[in-house]
This record gives sequence, structure tokens and C-alpha cells, in this order.
Amino acid sequence: MSENKKSLNFLEQIIEDDLSKGMDRSQLRFRFPPEPNGYLHIGHAASICLNFGLGIKYDAPVNLRFDDTNPVKEEQEYVDSIKTDIEWLGFKWAEELYSSDYFQQLYDWSVQMIKMGKAYVDDQSSSLMAEQKGTPTKPGTNSPFRNRSVAENLTLFEKMKNGEFDEGSHVLRAKIDMSSPNMLMRDPVMYRVLKKSHHRTGEDWKIYPMYDWTHGESDYIEKISHSLCTLEFKHHRELYDWFLDQVYDEKDIRPKQREFARRNLSYTVMSKRKLLQLVEEGYVSGWDDPRMPTISGLRRRGYTPKSIRDFSESAGIAKRDNVTDLALLEFHIRNELNKTAPRVMAVLNPVKLVITNYPEGKEELLSAENNPEDAEAGFRTVPFSKELYIEREDFREVANKKFFRLKLGKEVRLKNAYIIKADSVEKDENGEITVIYCTYDEDSKSGSGTEASQRKVKGTIHWVSVAHALKSEVRLYDRLFIDEAPDSHKDVDFKTLINPESLEVIPEAFVEPGLATAKTGDSFQFQRLGYFNVDKDSTPEKLVFNRTVALRDSWAKIEQKK
Ligand code: ATP
Ligand code: MG
Repeated sequence: MSENKKSLNFLEQIIEDDLSKGMDRSQLRFRFPPEPNGYLHIGHAASICLNFGLGIKYDAPVNLRFDDTNPVKEEQEYVDSIKTDIEWLGFKWAEELYSSDYFQQLYDWSVQMIKMGKAYVDDQSSSLMAEQKGTPTKPGTNSPFRNRSVAENLTLFEKMKNGEFDEGSHVLRAKIDMSSPNMLMRDPVMYRVLKKSHHRTGEDWKIYPMYDWTHGESDYIEKISHSLCTLEFKHHRELYDWFLDQVYDEKDIRPKQREFARRNLSYTVMSKRKLLQLVEEGYVSGWDDPRMPTISGLRRRGYTPKSIRDFSESAGIAKRDNVTDLALLEFHIRNELNKTAPRVMAVLNPVKLVITNYPEGKEELLSAENNPEDAEAGFRTVPFSKELYIEREDFREVANKKFFRLKLGKEVRLKNAYIIKADSVEKDENGEITVIYCTYDEDSKSGSGTEASQRKVKGTIHWVSVAHALKSEVRLYDRLFIDEAPDSHKDVDFKTLINPESLEVIPEAFVEPGLATAKTGDSFQFQRLGYFNVDKDSTPEKLVFNRTVALRDSWAKIEQKK
């Protein structure tokens, strides 16, 4: 579909309405506002694609604003990873900004509010203040400090700022309405005392502004026209607007908060707090563990920026909460790698196969097509010899007619090579097959044009030459959780729902020798098995591959059988 024929999502509709009511296109400005307290995940990608997508569509600037008002949890490492991930996704921000850049301005505005009688210092305990808040059906009661004099409030607030009070002893509150039906409007806290070093402002501040007080004002300072956030902030909109009213000047752009549904993905968790637990408690190897729903985990797993952008686009922007099927994400990476990933042969569960009538010591370089989906991809050569590895599952001594692989007395084609027939097997003392003896049809070489080469046999299996194959480690991943919505259950620790078989390591798989030059991140289709990429743990001595995704959705099949 061409861009202008695509139907508008509801946020684009809001923007179009604003434009039709006289807003100038040049006034459009967006932001992506991560808190640097963790790595970005696939949910953030929805917000990134949305905001930067609008920037591209309307040719409008999009700021990257670090919402860094909580020094307890924020770190430079997270700032760096967030920038890396956004750039990797293919987006460019107009300006890199920090809420902490506005601490002085926010402070000055607060002093102004105190002077207008719109804010006061409360030094009751937090539990007492919580009690006075009331409930959604019961109005709150005013704090006894609500009517302190302006002079006293100014003195106390200054002392808070100077670090003269202990953490938790004093807060600055907005004076709004303790009986508002919206609990957030019941004199919300604007500042708390926190004696923590901040990743940017160091020891400068002993008080830190709360999210609600910071976010809208930061939007205002940056002239953001549309401040898009997730649905849990819907009730905050009234407060967002109230805070803006206190500082807004008619001649300025007035930012508008609008909400959309969070992106949830099945079989995973998306809260940074929970992802941090998985990292800190060692359930995964790090934020970039290939099983993590983080952007860095997906990248390491073999996902591409385009597959994530395509996924975000096709999952869409919703008004109501929902769960997107992980299979949709997998569809997009499979779809892309099908077109771009070179085909190679790899054997994950090897059994030896000897071609008894193939000359001892002979080697051939057979031609193999790199990617039938890409005419430009060309051909490579693969070494062939008397002793090969094939997949153990590709052979059975006896099998029914539906088994189109190798069985005793029957023929199969070795991919890019010859037709072989299985004659006998050798077994160890446990009865496990150690060698399969075959004979080959010398005239049946693929692509040789002979009559024998065109002979149809039911099955084709892949192989690697024992003498030439590279020993590799292969890591197979499954869903990280056994439950479709692991964090939706009350009274169940989400960690008890972790899939104990989410990682299977194959220490000795074999791949064709051409892969010796493969580099970290390179993707391949291991024919008949799936898409794999080279992990960062790979060394020249030992390649390490991650399975990005299987060729088909094997999970769906398993589920159906149950
Ligand atoms: P978390 O709960 O994972 O810690 P958060 O909302 O606290 O997420 P922020 O860093 O504050 O994380 O999020 C930055 C931006 O990304 C916000 O605008 C937020 O609304 C948006 N965002 C976060 N998670 C999702 C999600 N799952 N789907 C869509 N947007 C999201
Ligand atoms: Mg947040």
C-alpha cells in the first residue's frame, strides 16, 4: 500500500485534526522519553517506531529525552545502550536531552507556584499522607500544613533543596483538590528529598522532581506538540494539564498528552524491573541474552532492525490493551531472512555415513546455490568425500512410507550431491547406530545433466563432509516462559513460570567449512533446520551459533497435538 492510501491510526487522526484546525506543520514535534533504568525492549520499540515514524511522516523533529529524575535506579550504562539501540533500529533523534537539564527551571517554577499559593511543603509521614488521600469513593482530608504561609513554605523548600532535611521527612505538594474524583489530583507530590548522586548532576541536588511534575513541563520546554504515552498515564492527563496551566504562556505551543496501548508480547515479560531481576538473579546471561525481549537480546539472537520495524508496523497502534503473539515477530524475521540469508549445510545431531563405493581419499568440490530466493546470491562450493555426517533423525532402519528420508534399502538424495542407498548399519553395545553404510549412484550428481541426475527420489537430506566440517557450538532457544502471560497472574511469582528448557546447547555440531570466515552477527539458513547467526562468543577456534528462529512455527504444531 502506498503511504497516503494507508488508513490513519487514531493518533495520526488526532494530528490531522489539529492540522486541519490551523496548527502549522512546522509546529509538530515529538519525543521518545525513556527512563535510563534498564535496556530497551520490544515494547519500547513500539513507542520508538511510533514517535520516530511520525517524525518521518510529518518531517518533524523527534527528541530523545532521558527521563532521569530518579537517581537511585539510573545509570550511564543504560543511557549508552538506549542510544545504541535506537540508532541500530535506524532512527535519528533531533536532540539528545535530559529531564535533569531542566532541574533549575523546574525548581524556579516551583518557587513561583509557592508564591502563588499553589504548592506547599508537607512534613507529615508518608503513611499519614496516604491515609489522608481517601479512596476513589471517599474524599481525602486536607493536610494540616496545607495553609502554611508562603514565607514559611519558601524557607522550608529552600532547606529541602539545601539538604537540611532527611530523606522522607519533607515533600513539596501541589495544592489542588483533596476531594477530586481523580486521586492523582489530591495534592500530588512534586518533590522529594533524595540524597543520592545523579548520573549527570552529581551532588548538585538533594531534591528530585516527580514524574508528573517533570514530564509535561519538559514537553513544554522542548515545544513538543504531541506527547504520546501508554495507557496507564490516562488518569495522569488531568494533572499533566493542570501543571501546564501553572506555567503556560498563551503564545507558546501547548503540548498535548495522548495515550495508546502498551505492546505486550506473549510468553515474555516486559517490565524493566522484572527483566532486571532475570539478569541480576542469573536466570539469563545478561540484558542481551538471546532469550530476552530486549532490543539487544533480539539483535544478538539474529533479529534485524527491519524485522522489528515491520513487526511494529504490522502489530499496529491500539487504543486498548492486548497481547501480541510472539509468532508475529517470528514471522517477520523469517520472512526477511528467507530473502537475505545464505543457505548452508549444518548437522546438529550427527551420525556418520560411509559411502562404500566412493573412492578412498577422493574429494570433490560440489556446486551449491547460495539462496534460491535471491538470483544475485550466486553459488559456492562444498567439499564432498567418502565419509559424511548426516542428522541422526534423517535415518531409520525401518520406517513407514511417510518417512521421506533415509532408510535401509531405500534411496535419498544428498543435497547438492548424489543419490545414495542405505545398505547396513553398525551399532555400539547400547544398540545405538554408529555408522550407516551406503552406496552411491556415480552418475546422479546434482546439476550434471545426466539422466541419473534427474531421477526423482522422494527425499533430500543435508550433510557435511567429516574431514572438512567445522566443529561448532549451537545454541537452540525456546520461549523464556511456559505461560502466555507470565506477569498477569496474581500471587504467582513470574519466575516460577520460566521455561526450564529455554536453552539447549549443542556442544558439537558440524557446519560446512565455508563458514570459517563468518563474523559475529552474520546470519545463515541452516538448510532444513532454521535461521542461525554467529554469536559474539564465537572465536576462530570455535564458532558459536544462535538459532534465531526455526524454519516453521514448530510450537504451533506441538500445541495443536496436545
Ligand atoms: P517499564 O515498565 O518496562 O519499566 P516504562 O514505561 O517505565 O517501562 P520508560 O523508559 O518510561 O519505560 O518508557 C519510555 C517510553 O516507552 C514511554 O513513553 C513509555 O510509555 C513507552 N513504553 C514503555 N513500555 C512500552 C510498551 N510495552 N509498549 C509501548 N510503549 C512502551
Ligand atoms: Mg516509566
